[in-house]
Amino acid sequence: MIQSVALVGGTHGNETSGIQLVRNWLKGDIPDTYGSLDIRCYLANQAAIDANIRFVEADLNRQFSFENLMADSTSREAVLAKTLNDKLGPKGNALTDLVVDIHNTTSNMGATLIILEADDFNIKLARYVKKVMPEANILLEDEKPVADHAYLCTTGKRGVMIEVGAQPQGVLREDVYQLTLTMTEAVLAFCEAYNQGELGELPECEAFRLGDNVSFPLDENGERTAMIHHHLQDADFVPLVAGQPVFRDFKGNDVLWDGDTTYPHFINEAAYHKLHVAFATASLIRL
Ligand SMILES: [Zn+2]
Repeated sequence: MIQSVALVGGTHGNETSGIQLVRNWLKGDIPDTYGSLDIRCYLANQAAIDANIRFVEADLNRQFSFENLMADSTSREAVLAKTLNDKLGPKGNALTDLVVDIHNTTSNMGATLIILEADDFNIKLARYVKKVMPEANILLEDEKPVADHAYLCTTGKRGVMIEVGAQPQGVLREDVYQLTLTMTEAVLAFCEAYNQGELGELPECEAFRLGDNVSFPLDENGERTAMIHHHLQDADFVPLVAGQPVFRDFKGNDVLWDGDTTYPHFINEAAYHKLHVAFATASLIRL
């Protein structure tokens, strides 16, 4: 049974679609079709929201490892994480059955549901979302055990993230808002059907399994020597095959992909600027 559901926006303070959705639902606009669910809405990082920035001192969505939650807090967000963990978790012994953390990205990832393990619940959830929202992407980040992730959504008994783009930081786009709303409602409708035993036939679906991060080419001073090639820009989840361009350097030369066929995503994500992450790879799987 999924009874208590936490819907979280503003884990990153400049990701406006989740913030706006939660604000609207806090005002009482929650659809009343989810009778078996106790839905609570939270704005995670109010100071970052007020300042329209991702975070004040540290990335809140990297603070929820057991290690960080037990350590002496070194940043404003590390302190905030403990407060949120008390409300939503505590991690490992959670009161909340499902934490849904709503994000958006500057990458052209459409409506992407991020799941952290391919267990029975998450497979059914992925299949259900894909069935009612065929344009959705399912991204599986199971490169480590769920509890080892430091994501906010790992405070719940179960947790998923909704990641929608492309949307610039601090900007609210109507199409991105609608996709966010549709996917949120799909996740809640799944929980309701799961509780009622009314999931019906759920055919296998395509999903992407996270691979590695690919960095921008850097010079000896750590400065970028190239930008994302226009062929790759906005081509999130489109197969990238050997020989296709991924970067164009500032002398006009193309850098070609020489790896196996992959499904790039988080292409040119603004939030990964400091890390110099150009994109992440993924393999195509079936769930
Ligand atoms: Zn985010």
